[in-house]
Amino acid sequence: VTFADLELSEPILRAISDMGYTHPTPIQEQAIPAILMARDVMGVAQTGTGKTASFTLPMLEILSDSRARARMPRSLILEPTRELALQVAENFVNYGKYLKLNHALLIGGESMADQKEVLNRGVDVLIATPGRLLDLFERGGLMLNHTGILVIDEADRMLDMGFIPDIEKIVGLLPPNRQTLLFSATMAPTIRKLADAFLHSPKEITV
Ligand code: AMP
Repeated sequence: VTFADLELSEPILRAISDMGYTHPTPIQEQAIPAILMARDVMGVAQTGTGKTASFTLPMLEILSDSRARARMPRSLILEPTRELALQVAENFVNYGKYLKLNHALLIGGESMADQKEVLNRGVDVLIATPGRLLDLFERGGLMLNHTGILVIDEADRMLDMGFIPDIEKIVGLLPPNRQTLLFSATMAPTIRKLADAFLHSPKEITV
């Protein structure tokens, strides 16, 4: 299987090739087609398996395909830490370099006023830590009721860090017909319960 077999378009294939990747990893091979078909996905995968690209690449494809430009985030990626959020943003820059999509980071350590202004311009991909996102939401600087794709990354770390109540609040702000992708290194009972609550007939992928 090659990346071209996964029905990714030319600007994305070119960016992948610039990165020097020749073949999709097992999680990419399984997750990319499912996400492109608008399915929910529950991915049980450790860091190092290529899981970030397994959601970043099809999200870029979906977001570049549709023209809708709302003044609100079109997709949301939740990360447990600032460092992981920065890494995911770097992935969007690398894989999306031939596309005209924008992303914004909502993480601690940046000025709230600047972040509000960026959001007002409209973003295709919002990458956030849960606490900071809720903080801005409560100040009235954010609407998520048209956000069509949600990624909950590193769910087991979110659990360890006590973020599950925040995640539940955030999920409640998104439309029920969104596409949801949940990734976790392990499948603890609490994670299974989250998946049952947030995902609709997900494709389950374990690598
Ligand atoms: P991740 O599991 O998302 O943290 O990715 C682990 C590392 O694998 C990152 O440094 C990626 O740049 C790299 N990577 C992702 N997909 C591929 C691929 N298909 N071929 C080679 N390297 C990859």
